Amino acid sequence: MNKSMFVTITAGLMLATPFISAEDTLPLKAVNRANEVIDAALEAYGGAEAITNLNSVARKSHFTTWATNQSRSPGPPWDENEQMSFSAVDFETKTFVGKNKGSGGGFDFNVSQIIKAEEGWQVSYRGGTVTPIAEPDFNTSSGPFIRVTAPLLVKQLQNRRQTSHWLGEVEFEGRAHDVITLVMEVGPALSLYFDKETHLLSRSERVLPPFGQVDYRFTNYEPIEGIPFSKTFRLLVNGEPNINIDIKSTQINQSIDEYAVVPESLEVVEVAPPAPTEVELQEVKKGVFLVGAGGTYAMFVEMNDHVIAVGGTAGIPERIKAMREVIKDKPIKYGVMTHHHNDHVLGVPAYQAEEAVVLSVKEHEAVMRGAATDADSLKLKFVEDKYVFDDGARKLEIIDIGPTPHAKHLLVAWLPAEGILFEADHFPNPTNGRMPPAQAVTKRLAEAIDQRGMDVKTIVGAHSPRIASIDDLRRALALSPVKVAQVSP
Ligand SMILES: [Zn+2]
Repeated sequence: MNKSMFVTITAGLMLATPFISAEDTLPLKAVNRANEVIDAALEAYGGAEAITNLNSVARKSHFTTWATNQSRSPGPPWDENEQMSFSAVDFETKTFVGKNKGSGGGFDFNVSQIIKAEEGWQVSYRGGTVTPIAEPDFNTSSGPFIRVTAPLLVKQLQNRRQTSHWLGEVEFEGRAHDVITLVMEVGPALSLYFDKETHLLSRSERVLPPFGQVDYRFTNYEPIEGIPFSKTFRLLVNGEPNINIDIKSTQINQSIDEYAVVPESLEVVEVAPPAPTEVELQEVKKGVFLVGAGGTYAMFVEMNDHVIAVGGTAGIPERIKAMREVIKDKPIKYGVMTHHHNDHVLGVPAYQAEEAVVLSVKEHEAVMRGAATDADSLKLKFVEDKYVFDDGARKLEIIDIGPTPHAKHLLVAWLPAEGILFEADHFPNPTNGRMPPAQAVTKRLAEAIDQRGMDVKTIVGAHSPRIASIDDLRRALALSPVKVAQVSP
């Protein structure tokens, strides 16, 4: 619709209804309709009093997750992973407990987060450590659990009525629904779909950059002490299944204190210093630079008359800029992409802008072209097992160590004379230097180092500013996961 047409129609409406009273303004109507929907929902969820008195919820569940653009292969079907989860919230004491145990992408995890009002801890049962949380926040931590628990969303609506607007009526799965908004303490607004007949929540949506459209589906309602809870739940991201949850047990209005006990047998680890937010350049060895900030790092290798860049995580343009402070005039001839995961191909457009050749494997061609600014003009070169750069002064080998538990093809960069290895996603290297027990991916990396006869002295990675030694890798390999008894219903 063009602007003049809009003006005409609005003018027409103005003429048709010359006496607009305050009650009829669009925002007020939206608030009033939302309140009607909230009242009907409260009734359907056991009544306003039951929701007011709903102070604690503890649920044990089984998660199935899909590793969209994070699977071992570059396209669907995505790898399916399983995990057990336990979440408990108590609003009066502002306590939240979230435990997750499972595996995916060649990593095992067994962690929990405990928030008790102003205090918080991150527990790794696998690593046997407790780390105090620097700035615990009950609302941020409990948000994800509230968003997948329908009666807790209704409780939010009850408390935050004034933020809610009626958006309209839509048909969803063949049934009429009222859609209203909810603005929680933290995060973007949710659009909640309430069935016009049952007044139960069927769906919720929100837009979460950079993921896109997140769509929550609530199914299979069953009453717990008079309050209907959905027993199954699905989360879709941009229309693709992302998480399915099967609830195994639900407890309400009981103390959750026993679940919020910080295990005493574990070692308390100091809070790690936050990774620098300003891009830093470290010279690992003469002409070999690790450049990055936050959680993303790239390696730049200076050759006789050009530069080879390794790694494609977020912020490559700023990393190139920092590199230019020390290597002023040599062009970047190659950009090496370690693998196809969506967080590792963000640098493709930056290398394309430098007119560099992107180095990858044939199997990842479509992902690389898809990530480019212009798919057709992207210059690609494929590595088959190994590609060697040698200008007489320096040798850099790009080696496919796949398959690994993380990716079918995984390129690492190896400088044999310097003993420097650059890897992505296979060797977690914490900024505080405390090595966790080696993951399956790390064992595979160590195996590849042996098989290829690499005399590695130094390891740098795509996600850490810390330069690790081969002894750090040995230390991780020597540790085994800790076993701790845990309490959950
Ligand atoms: Zn990855």
